[in-house]
Amino acid sequence: MARTHISGFSRIGAQRELKFAQEAFWRGESSEADLLEIAEALRARHWQLQRDAQLDFVTVGDFAYYDPMLNLSALLGALPARFGFDANTLSLGQYYELARGNAAQPAQEMTKWFDTNYHYLVPELDANTRFHGGVSWFFDEIDEALAQGLPVKPVLIGPITFLWLSKSHVPEFDRLSLLPKLVIRYNRILDTLKQRGIEWVQLDEPALCVDLPAQWLDAFSAVYEALGTNGVKVLLASYFDDAAQHAERVARLPIAGVHLDLVRAPQQLDAWRAALPPHAVLSVGVIDGRNIWRADLSAIVASLRTLDAELGERLWIAPSCSLQHVPVTLASEQKLDGELKSWLAFATEKLAELSTLALALRDPDAARDALAAADRALDTRRRSTAVVNALVQRRVAAVDDTLAQRRSPFAERNRVQREALALPLLPTTTIGSFPQTASIRRARAAYKRGELRALDYLQRMRAEIEFAVRKQETLDLDVLVHGEAERNDMVEYFGEQLWGYAFTENGWVQSYGSRCVKPPIIYGDIYRPEPMTVDTTRYAQSLTPRPMKGMLTGPVTMLQWSFVRDDQPRSTTALQLALAIRDEVVDLEKAGIRIIQIDEPAFREGLPLRESDWPAYLEWATRVFRISASGVADRTQIHTHMCYSEFNDILPSIAAMDADVITIETSRSAMELLDGFGAFAYPNEIGPGVYDIHSPRVPGEAAMLRLLERACEVIPAERLWVNPDCGLKTRGWPETEAALTHMVRAAKALRLKLAARQDVAETA
Ligand code: GLN
Ligand code: ZN
Repeated sequence: MARTHISGFSRIGAQRELKFAQEAFWRGESSEADLLEIAEALRARHWQLQRDAQLDFVTVGDFAYYDPMLNLSALLGALPARFGFDANTLSLGQYYELARGNAAQPAQEMTKWFDTNYHYLVPELDANTRFHGGVSWFFDEIDEALAQGLPVKPVLIGPITFLWLSKSHVPEFDRLSLLPKLVIRYNRILDTLKQRGIEWVQLDEPALCVDLPAQWLDAFSAVYEALGTNGVKVLLASYFDDAAQHAERVARLPIAGVHLDLVRAPQQLDAWRAALPPHAVLSVGVIDGRNIWRADLSAIVASLRTLDAELGERLWIAPSCSLQHVPVTLASEQKLDGELKSWLAFATEKLAELSTLALALRDPDAARDALAAADRALDTRRRSTAVVNALVQRRVAAVDDTLAQRRSPFAERNRVQREALALPLLPTTTIGSFPQTASIRRARAAYKRGELRALDYLQRMRAEIEFAVRKQETLDLDVLVHGEAERNDMVEYFGEQLWGYAFTENGWVQSYGSRCVKPPIIYGDIYRPEPMTVDTTRYAQSLTPRPMKGMLTGPVTMLQWSFVRDDQPRSTTALQLALAIRDEVVDLEKAGIRIIQIDEPAFREGLPLRESDWPAYLEWATRVFRISASGVADRTQIHTHMCYSEFNDILPSIAAMDADVITIETSRSAMELLDGFGAFAYPNEIGPGVYDIHSPRVPGEAAMLRLLERACEVIPAERLWVNPDCGLKTRGWPETEAALTHMVRAAKALRLKLAARQDVAETA
């Protein structure tokens, strides 16, 4: 009989209880005991949900007060030395200092967990890292579950993934040199589990799904040779992509089972079936842990029948990966359209799907009603989405390369734009948003609650826009923005105006620490019923003779930051988004807007885990961007903006987007990023950020001038813009005004310097 389990559950709670408990503790409004109590209740609730769904195991170890990777560092005893903390006596307060920084030390660096929107804290290792062991939280939680009589399966991030994702301040330091010590520590951990009578432990090694260098793969074998013989059965879990190329290597190891992501990579099953020894457990991840759609249970049951007959108890059924990437429960959704809701399964509903699968294999009759309900939902979904918006479908079918191309090449457009815009050398601008003040947020909240009438809200937003325009004129910026006061979020604002998008009330997913995001759901064909930003932008332009930038979110970012349909390729959905944005771009041009910025901050994060899959992604991603941007005349200048990105490895694709101007984040890396642009000879105009908007610090004029001069060394001044790193919505007005004053002065100073050099050159 097949068994059921999950890789992990969301920690945050259906009402984001963990977030509120953390933040109250940080503000000193509640005690450590309060926080511990809420955390314990959340764990108990999530284990109970797994019991209610009759899963064969309850997963323990997926909880963290901030981040599981930080928990693991604390468990191993591998904390960054610079904090001077002892992992054995680490307090919760110190744990949060590691996560959030303190007066003396910046926080540990944070980065994306593979290709998800979850961010983990990057472990800092060096030659002195010892792995002497640390906090006992992991074991305490196991004891907590054992005391409740639960069938516990602990989960831990595996040693190879831990090392792979960590970093060292010493660039040439070889992290693999730490492996022997690390394995000793993991073995101790497994010993401790054995003492507690634990039969199975899941070790997560998603690093198997990236391009691991050969010496890392060899290390992988060595590690599991050592760990597998400990007496606790190891379930080695891979997820997020195909791990088939490692099947034979893994099969030779003394591990007791593997978990595979068969949603992302169903094709790997055969290779693993062929390679695995007959005693091995095979955990099939068949329920999508990354998306919110109800599964096709009948199809999954059909596909599992043979495996079930062959493997019996050695077949385990699971979601593809941890359920932390989907919202907790549909039960908190009161406003969602009833039909759409019937198409969805959040984490709690996915547990029920697992138990239906197990039941259907065991006792098909008993599962008949549940399967029929799933079939019906799927069937309505298929039929409803088949009543497609004929217009969208026809347009998608008719897309050809001419739509993906500006009328003339950059050089020609650039000439026309220079004439039309008559901007000074080194034009100054900002990225779009100005401070989202408390009064703006209050107005929006009142409007949403129905306490402010639409017209009054519109007036308030117009007043904010006028305020921002006057400020920018006083600052003497060259290209203005309206400030985005009316936007809560750069995806939601557009999604709310497009057909095919739905929004949840409580569909929160942890982004990092106490931060959660609520990605909208793309459930149908994307259609723009009417212009979305034209009124606002035209109003803003009417206030000033200076060029006003129209401000849009690009198709790749709209896609990347939403839950996306699983019944058509991502690229098709992106194309539909691109066509809607293209119409908006054209309408803005018709309304007299001469510069339009299409933001793509999520462009790079869409990259697949394996480099061999990059070209296909980059091909369609650049193409949909161009489709959104290419409906306008040569004289209309298209900008794009990207941030948080290292993109030296995808520069040809950035160039292939063919935006007239790109603004990027560079100030913190002191323009390092630009070296790549210089070496590659990026052909179009660039605005490297000279003002780090992530910090309340106001950069001085001299510092910005230095950054600009550095930029001039790699990019000719004629192609340079002057701007901050990103939007200013998280900043306050006083610091924004001060910093922009310095920025404009720096630009003017450099113009004078360059003109003087020119004069000298001409006289000589
Ligand atoms: N235009 C947006 C803003 O200024 C861009 C935000 C972003 O890059 N993430 O806020
Ligand atoms: Zn940005």
